[in-house]
Amino acid sequence: MKKRAVFLDRDGTINREVGYLDDPDRLVLLPGAARAIRRINEQSIPVVVITNQSGIARGYFGEERMEAIHDRLREKLKNEGAHLDGIYFCPHHPEGKLPEYAKSCACRKPGTALVEKAAEDLGIDLKASFMVGDHVKDMELAGNAGMTSIMVMTGHGREQWEKAGDDLRVRVAHVADNLNAAVAWILNRI
Ligand SMILES: [Mg+2]
Repeated sequence: MKKRAVFLDRDGTINREVGYLDDPDRLVLLPGAARAIRRINEQSIPVVVITNQSGIARGYFGEERMEAIHDRLREKLKNEGAHLDGIYFCPHHPEGKLPEYAKSCACRKPGTALVEKAAEDLGIDLKASFMVGDHVKDMELAGNAGMTSIMVMTGHGREQWEKAGDDLRVRVAHVADNLNAAVAWILNRI
């Protein structure tokens, strides 16, 4: 039987939004984020990160550096008893500087290629799953993939919510102060 999952944006949702995060030493978890992920782990529900990393296409940092950042993220979460079941990233951007990454792709959010890949890898039912993020693109991804969307007010959240149109606002299932509040809402519904 296919299972539900909780998909999370990375920057501004789990860790502090710092522009283009290009160094593991700049990775700071948001307060309560690790605990929130641990609460999902305790329910044996997969937690999967979906992240646009156009800094790679723009030539700001390479994939190796990004992997070092993800290792640090996993380590910080592990220190608080939490883990991720997968991290899927898009390194592309249509106006990227590096030719191998400069393209329009199906994986850059709100494109659905990454969540579809995760669904296939982990046996996930997207229509029964949740997407939490701080950006309009995360909410559009949720809509495109048939997931329930929760917008957090950390990172770019507040600013994004203010400029979002009514058409998007009505499609967002819930607005939460932070990841911990988003997870509380999700766990109440399943
Ligand atoms: Mg974000």
